[in-house]
Amino acid sequence: MPKIGIMQNNMPELPEVETVKNTILPLIKDKTIKKVTVFCNRLIQSDLETFKKEIINKKILNVQRYGKYLFFDLSDDYILIIHLRMEGKFSYNKNPSNARISSTTLIFNLDDNSALSFNDTRKFGLMYLTTKKEIHSLPMMQKLGIEANKVEISDYPSLIKKLKRRKPIKELLLDQSILCGIGNIYADETLYRSKINPLTKGNELKDEQFIEIFKNAKIVLEKAIKLGGSTVHSFSSNGIDGKFQNELLCYGKVNEKCPNCGTRFHKIFLNGRGTTYCPNCQIDYSIKKAIGITGPIGSGKSTILKYLEKKNYLTYSCDELIHSLYLEVYIKNKISKILGFNFDVNNDQNRKEAKELMNNNPLIKEKIENFIYPILEEKLTKIIKENENVAIEVPLLFKAHFEFLFKKIIVIEISNDKQKENLKLRNEKNIDSSLKLNSDYSYLKRDDVYVIFNDSSLEELYSKINQILA
Ligand SMILES: [Zn+2]
Repeated sequence: MPKIGIMQNNMPELPEVETVKNTILPLIKDKTIKKVTVFCNRLIQSDLETFKKEIINKKILNVQRYGKYLFFDLSDDYILIIHLRMEGKFSYNKNPSNARISSTTLIFNLDDNSALSFNDTRKFGLMYLTTKKEIHSLPMMQKLGIEANKVEISDYPSLIKKLKRRKPIKELLLDQSILCGIGNIYADETLYRSKINPLTKGNELKDEQFIEIFKNAKIVLEKAIKLGGSTVHSFSSNGIDGKFQNELLCYGKVNEKCPNCGTRFHKIFLNGRGTTYCPNCQIDYSIKKAIGITGPIGSGKSTILKYLEKKNYLTYSCDELIHSLYLEVYIKNKISKILGFNFDVNNDQNRKEAKELMNNNPLIKEKIENFIYPILEEKLTKIIKENENVAIEVPLLFKAHFEFLFKKIIVIEISNDKQKENLKLRNEKNIDSSLKLNSDYSYLKRDDVYVIFNDSSLEELYSKINQILA
């Protein structure tokens, strides 16, 4: 017996409602409603007595969908409007004695002795009986915007006008009076594919970015409709019905790595809705404002930091920040647990042991990085948000995927000979193992990256810095 299942934890969105439509239509088309039993009065939003009376002996001619609404076209020009809301599901039974389960709020008995039940554990679903003549004047219908999978180029100007508001774009995409049919999942997917941060305000977006959103919303919804329709009979209790869940690139993937850049997906709550995004592909320009300095050991990062301090920058060193983090009890305990010994960051021997252990055991290294990077990132984000003119030395800037925090990233390159010379001056003992240069040059393609070869005098270094800051 087909049960038309929809997602359990999220409101069904356009593709899921389309799937419900495609599934129930062949089961109930051209059948006549002989009897109706309403178990939950608040399901019926139009007048209950009229509903009970008028729906009898109406033939179901067609089932249509607009946005997240279903419409039963009935004989005598009646229309039944249905919204599944959070948990509403139809189930069809050939044997009417099986039609009622504990969550059933309504049963239609049909003329072939079958039954269509509406089951709704949370009882948010709604039905509204109206006529073809009256439907367009209903407030709930007037509030519906254009369907997101049907947007044409000619719709762009009016849509852009409506979306240019001082509200986060994610929120605007969920507003059914502008674009209809996009819910949480497809909003996250659309914004990820469009490389737009969910917090960016509508009035800060360029026309090209809106067009990117319209195109991606269409692609995502159409693909979801196609895949959702293919497996509707396999009711899944813990996810999205259909096969589109395999196509999700971003939604529900918090802490997994972005397939495009390798950064961990972040999750924030926007108006109470969980929102997943990649901070590096979907830049929030309100935090991308500090200067980041990176490069191998002994390349001159601290020299540049000191110079910037003189130029009134608020300067931070990540090594020092991490050192202070390791002093916090819960961090110290967690690190000790991963390392397998009691770690005290102020103990030279401890630090040396930890370094060796991490070098010899990539798994331990990864565990520590996965733990400490998000904490460090939170700290850096806070510093950058709360201050202007911040410069931060971040040895592992690219490895930790902190690019999104910096307006300008200064990468210092240095020759091996000069590096050795610098390290000798600093009394660094273990020179050889310190000499691992950054071999990943993919950052060279970024236009926020400035590479400096620190191969001559200090004056020349400062002059290069000044050029970058200008
Ligand atoms: Zn990414």
